Amino acid sequence: MVEVRSVHKSFGSLEVLRGIDLEVRTGEVTVILGPSGSGKSTLLRTINHLEKVDNGWISVDGTLVGYRRSGDKLYELREREVLKQRTQIGFVFQNFNLFPHLTVLENVTEAPVAALGRSKKDAFAAAEKLLDRVGLADKATAYPKQLSGGQQQRVAIARALALEPKLLLFDEPTSALDPELVGEVLDVIKDLALQGTTMIVVTHEIGFAREVADTVVFMDEGRIVEQGAPADVLDAPQHERTRAFLSKVL
Ligand code: ADP
Ligand code: MG
Repeated sequence: MVEVRSVHKSFGSLEVLRGIDLEVRTGEVTVILGPSGSGKSTLLRTINHLEKVDNGWISVDGTLVGYRRSGDKLYELREREVLKQRTQIGFVFQNFNLFPHLTVLENVTEAPVAALGRSKKDAFAAAEKLLDRVGLADKATAYPKQLSGGQQQRVAIARALALEPKLLLFDEPTSALDPELVGEVLDVIKDLALQGTTMIVVTHEIGFAREVADTVVFMDEGRIVEQGAPADVLDAPQHERTRAFLSKVL
């Protein structure tokens, strides 16, 4: 589903991604771990072309992200085409990023109506099912500020699902939450995993990684240091840097 090849990205003189290669199979969950500043968010952002890559390429479901190939050259897509591609890749942010002036139902239906041209009636019907799925059927008319952080993040997940994406990206979805609210959000993500949703999740929740991930990837200083099954990477890491990181977060 996802192929990342030799991706490099710098901000000015700072090289943040130093040659990333990654594959994610359909229906699998990949958890990315790594210290702050190692390039995890930047990698996620390149996968839906919120950041351009300097070198290398990324494809999702066989289609290049952000570019089209002509001969052996890559040409950047126009903004409209980028936006269209982006509807197929859901993104859930650390800080929820809900529209504060819209109700929960309006937050979930905005993109299907505006970006996919769905009728309001269909979008509302689909949104009600999604809200039920994330346990918020009774909050449809609430505004984000009337909800807990955990509830807001579950709305953000419903909103991402409303576009029926091929792939969901999560950037530290529980880092902004009070500890007692982390579980309800992880449970929703776990449920999506059980239903075969393809996901890449940046998180420091090692228990979640152990239970849900098919592959755990450890990043440091813009590189993938090691990756493999959770039992291998988490319980028998091969690299000193992985061991040092895990000893701090476990
Ligand atoms: P992580 O998510 O692993 O903490 P990031 O991908 O957010 O790491 O950041 C990696 C490095 O890139 C950091 O040093 C960060 O300060 C820098 N960085 C990220 N985004 C930008 C940007 N838009 N402009 C300049 N530097 C950036
Ligand atoms: Mg980050």
